Amino acid sequence: MKTIGMIGGTGWISTIEYYRIINEEVNRRLGGLNAAQLVLYSINFAELHAFQQENDMLGIYFLLRNAALRLQQAGAEALLLCTNTLHMFVGDLQKEIPLPFIHIGTATGNAIKKQGLGTIGLLGTQTTMEQDFYKTKLAELNIKTITPEKKDREFIHNTIFQELLKAVFLPESREGFLTIIRSLHQQGAEGVVLGCTEIPLLIKQEDIELPLFNTLNIHAQAAVDWVLSAS
Ligand code: GLU
Repeated sequence: MKTIGMIGGTGWISTIEYYRIINEEVNRRLGGLNAAQLVLYSINFAELHAFQQENDMLGIYFLLRNAALRLQQAGAEALLLCTNTLHMFVGDLQKEIPLPFIHIGTATGNAIKKQGLGTIGLLGTQTTMEQDFYKTKLAELNIKTITPEKKDREFIHNTIFQELLKAVFLPESREGFLTIIRSLHQQGAEGVVLGCTEIPLLIKQEDIELPLFNTLNIHAQAAVDWVLSAS
């Protein structure tokens, strides 16, 4: 089995789920007492968030670069960046870090394609919804992305930072997300990407009929595919 290096703490609550799913899935596939072989570098989210608030892109970049290098030194053979938003840095990191990144956008795009969908709603932080890095990954697979209107993007973003990253899950926030998902459906979305790794902790597939793409689960499964692949 190959060794995966997780950059987690983004936030720590969803990282716990990554750890659980990866181990459960390795055990489901290999049986017995098998579990994943991995190294975790968990960042202090407050440090990251201070850079985000100051729009200090270089600060974030070096935080991630340091984590990736430490994981490499610890024996990781591929990297799993446990957040959608920070994938905006993967293109640049990949130029300096020799280990492959298991890309959350590509894994999600593949899952959407498997279901044969062409138009998808995207929920996430404002960065993920408003910048191009995530939509481009989906567009490479011929998937068209629809994002919520401005006030809804703000609501989603604020809920992520003020509640979900602090492990606060409120029924009224869940209802707010479901209303936005229904409106994306009315605008033509055939499914919705829960493109922030904390959103699947609030919204479950049972809450709504429209297909949801749980990026945390999809990414963790892609990591298991990789650690158990030959060569
Ligand atoms: N976990 C979140 C995501 O998947 C947001 C936290 C962050 O800014 O990285 O996008």
